[in-house]
Amino acid sequence: MTYIVKGFAAMSADTPLVPFNVPRRALRTDDVQIDILYTGVCHSDLHMARNDWGVSQFPVVPGHEIVGRVKAVGSAVTKFKVGDLVGVGCLVDSCRSCYHCQHDLEQYCEQGSTQTYGDVDRHDHTPTYGGYSKEIVVSDAFVLSVPENLDTKAVPPVLCAGITTWSPLRHWNVGKGSKVAVVGLGGLGHMAIKLAKALGAEVTLFTRSPAKSQDALRLGASQIIVSTDEAQMKSVYNQFDLIIDTVPYSHDVSPYMPTLAIDGTLVFVGLIGKHPDFSTVPLVLGRRSIAGSAIGGIAETQELLDFCGKHNIVSDVEMINMADINTAYERMLKSDVKYRFVIDIANTL
Ligand code: NAP
Ligand code: ZN
Ligand code: ZN
Repeated sequence: MTYIVKGFAAMSADTPLVPFNVPRRALRTDDVQIDILYTGVCHSDLHMARNDWGVSQFPVVPGHEIVGRVKAVGSAVTKFKVGDLVGVGCLVDSCRSCYHCQHDLEQYCEQGSTQTYGDVDRHDHTPTYGGYSKEIVVSDAFVLSVPENLDTKAVPPVLCAGITTWSPLRHWNVGKGSKVAVVGLGGLGHMAIKLAKALGAEVTLFTRSPAKSQDALRLGASQIIVSTDEAQMKSVYNQFDLIIDTVPYSHDVSPYMPTLAIDGTLVFVGLIGKHPDFSTVPLVLGRRSIAGSAIGGIAETQELLDFCGKHNIVSDVEMINMADINTAYERMLKSDVKYRFVIDIANTL
């Protein structure tokens, strides 16, 4: 039997989020029922709530950076028990049998993975609703173990902002001696700096906001380049092995391309959509690449959580009450977040 928990939803693209009764399914044999403690606020939540990508089905209950404790498990679940500290990221299911699913790349499932919200369950065809809610029910294969030694309220962003930047850092073999640049200091950007630094890279931040310089240095960057300053940009030509571009909106990438070293790659993780024209000259005359990357697989996300546990890495968070979500979205649009909002679900919803 379906049951109801409290939540918050966008009912349309141009109205604020409001309280909403979220239906949750009765446990299947492989399900984990989770009491949500904290949910991070990703810029994708805002894109989906406002239908920026033209795919939103309302009501939208956002939230794919979820940390909570196991409340109950289905009869076939052996990996988790009541009371365990667990996480759920952007994925709650996939076909589990295609080449990508078999190779821990569920995010690239050939049949399309099932998103934590704004999607449809593959079995009962009901809408998926995310972590702006008291509880969630997820198949055990898509539930992550969260290290107990970390500051729990600062862990949720690891599950999207973290893995989205970790996956390209790993794919492009970033390690000691690598030179990495990050474009944009927001949720994804600040995790990218921390993780690249922890992997041994030398990290540069490209920002439009010089006021964030001190924070960037504290987070682990060794250099800050104001992207609108031509002379500063010229000073870092031919340097970076990897640039992680987290900017959410269409922007000109030409100023960044000459800053890549030979064989360097600029990977888009921010913008998902059309991009203005760019010249192939810096690509051809430097064997440089432009690429994209989506979140990460379940095994890779667990690898990251374990890495964070070992290196004591969490997000820099500003805690908010559930009712403050609409103000938080407005502040996010002004790049006024240090550096991730996290909703105190347990105490304020
Ligand atoms: P965020 O916290 O709002 O940070 C974005 C940062 O980009 C801002 O802090 C700002 O940094 C910079 N920025 C914002 N608008 C800009 C503009 N018009 N031009 C240049 N720079 C701009 O957002 P987020 O949560 O990190 O998410 C970033 C993007 O990643 C979103 O579009 C989100 O949907 C996407 N995303 C993708 C994936 C994936 O799988 N690929 C996963 C999660 C999120 P400065 O002030 O330093 O310039
Ligand atoms: Zn996200
Ligand atoms: Zn698949």
